[in-house]
Amino acid sequence: MKSEHEWYYEVSKSTPQQALMALREAWKRCFNKTAGHPLFKKKGKRDSFTLEGTVKILGNNKIQVPVIGVLKTYERLPQVKPKSITISREATRWFISFRFEVETQNSEHIDVVGVDLGVKSLATFSTGEVIVGAKSYKKYEAKLSRMQWLNRHKVIGSANWKKAQLQIARLHRKIANIRKDTLHKLTTLLAKNHGTVVIEDLNVSGMLANRKLAKAIADMSFFEFRRQLTYKCELYGSKLVVVDRWFPSSKTCSNCGTKKETLTLNERVFECSECGFVIDRDLNAAINLSKAAS
Ligand SMILES: [Zn+2]
Repeated sequence: MKSEHEWYYEVSKSTPQQALMALREAWKRCFNKTAGHPLFKKKGKRDSFTLEGTVKILGNNKIQVPVIGVLKTYERLPQVKPKSITISREATRWFISFRFEVETQNSEHIDVVGVDLGVKSLATFSTGEVIVGAKSYKKYEAKLSRMQWLNRHKVIGSANWKKAQLQIARLHRKIANIRKDTLHKLTTLLAKNHGTVVIEDLNVSGMLANRKLAKAIADMSFFEFRRQLTYKCELYGSKLVVVDRWFPSSKTCSNCGTKKETLTLNERVFECSECGFVIDRDLNAAINLSKAAS
């Protein structure tokens, strides 16, 4: 291998190990059908690597990493001993993310909350709370598609093309950050403030066909939503319940339990023909989910 890939030995030895571990995880997810097959990694595209072990934080703005040496950072560093760090590049900036161990807490909450992920709003809770989600990235998305369109005839590799590519990459980063932030706020809110959180299971193929999901979740993937909820529930000492994807959360009356034969996506209000109960469609589904946990 040495003669073929010299660069393999230019980096810290934990870096290729971490990459292989990530690949193993990716294939595992692929075989479990929770994700598609892993994509090839190439220099210049989504550059990132993970370092483990001998990483030292020196003061507020300096970090020592193997092989590379001391790096200065723009933001203040957390004063902890990291288990590992991941260095990644987005457009022209480099980012460091940390992994460290924390003590889990015991939740002081005992209530159960059901969560319905939807189109109109990001999420509806069985408590009646509705999380609308970030609207702000829509205007950036329009800007992005315009920029891509304007860039269509530029000569690939030319100075103008490079300039435009950089602008496009920056906009992509901005949109991705808004989405990430929205999803993190939602999962923290749920895990921190409730004893039990109930969500519906969604698989990948189902998700691609499911127009029901808000763009923020559809784009970030349900896998990420569930991943965040799983570790945050553990952190805050709450319980996560994932209900089978065939559970008729939308079609069932949350008042009397009667199940409807059909319910189209356009029906935004649930009306029960048995008991006459009328309720918002998403709230009805969220309440059914909260009941499914007990
Ligand atoms: Zn009913």
